[in-house]
Amino acid sequence: MKPVFHPRLLNSHFDDPCLFVRLLHEKQAILFDLGDIHAIRPSDLNKITDVFVTHTHMDHFIGFDTLLRGVLRKDTPLNIYGPSSILPCIQGKLKGYTWNLIEDYPTEIHVFAYDGRHVTHSVFAARNRFKKQTLSKSRSDGLLLKNPLFAVRAVLLDHGIPCLAYSLEEEFHINIDKALLTGKGLTVGAWLSTFKRKLREHPGDGSQTIRIGDKQFRVLELADIARITRGQKISYATDIAINQNNLMRLIDLIKGSDIFFCEAYFLEKDRERAAARFHLTAKTAGSLAKKAGVKKLELMHFSSKYRDCPDEVIHEAMKAFCN
Ligand SMILES: [Zn+2]
Ligand SMILES: [Zn+2]
Repeated sequence: MKPVFHPRLLNSHFDDPCLFVRLLHEKQAILFDLGDIHAIRPSDLNKITDVFVTHTHMDHFIGFDTLLRGVLRKDTPLNIYGPSSILPCIQGKLKGYTWNLIEDYPTEIHVFAYDGRHVTHSVFAARNRFKKQTLSKSRSDGLLLKNPLFAVRAVLLDHGIPCLAYSLEEEFHINIDKALLTGKGLTVGAWLSTFKRKLREHPGDGSQTIRIGDKQFRVLELADIARITRGQKISYATDIAINQNNLMRLIDLIKGSDIFFCEAYFLEKDRERAAARFHLTAKTAGSLAKKAGVKKLELMHFSSKYRDCPDEVIHEAMKAFCN
């Protein structure tokens, strides 16, 4: 099975946590957290459509300017999701520059602020010199984005301040039965991407057709070559206080993830410090992942006090995970 999501942590364990997720065969990428993003190539920066920010502490948000510079003049909107603080923080960033001469740019930044009950949707458009315009406020159970390919859910947690954790889930995965395909006299080609997209976007629609070479087929008559399996799931959580409410809500969100990206800020021996700073310990990260039935645990965001002993942090988390 070829995975649809290709996640890549941009920085080392001790630098800003930032997860870049490229989508296979789509000219699209998603970003979790917006710290130092200089490791993203300009061509990849341009593919980012949606950014999910956990909270607006500097190490999770300082990359906003780099991103904005990279996508300025882009004719498709940039969507940024985050807790309530995301709105005044983006507004503050935008107010830090002078914006004449951009009124003819198509740039639009859509901001979705989730407070645990409601999503407030605002837009900052270049044509209005990035002045805030509130579009809507609606109730939400945490499902922030849903399209035919994937869904992103958030849960509101406590980090001394509100902080979001996220899951990214493929609706379902389509594998192609090559033997059946060959049996129909067809060969593998670029048409398969279109075929999969039509299956996702128009399920059960008998009017959909597809051109393969010089022949026209109905999508449904080829549907038997598609094997539907469970979709891929990735989750991302960082900067979370160790308390029962946080842990229960987080386990529920990340349940069954193929990969769980998680902070391991402190060692268990420094648990008091972890409590004072509202962070997880490596051991808690490992046991969380185990309880949630996660397949793979990827660690990030270590305190710089362990710069000489990163293996100790990894070992502590993995011991709890594999226990
Ligand atoms: Zn942090
Ligand atoms: Zn923080």
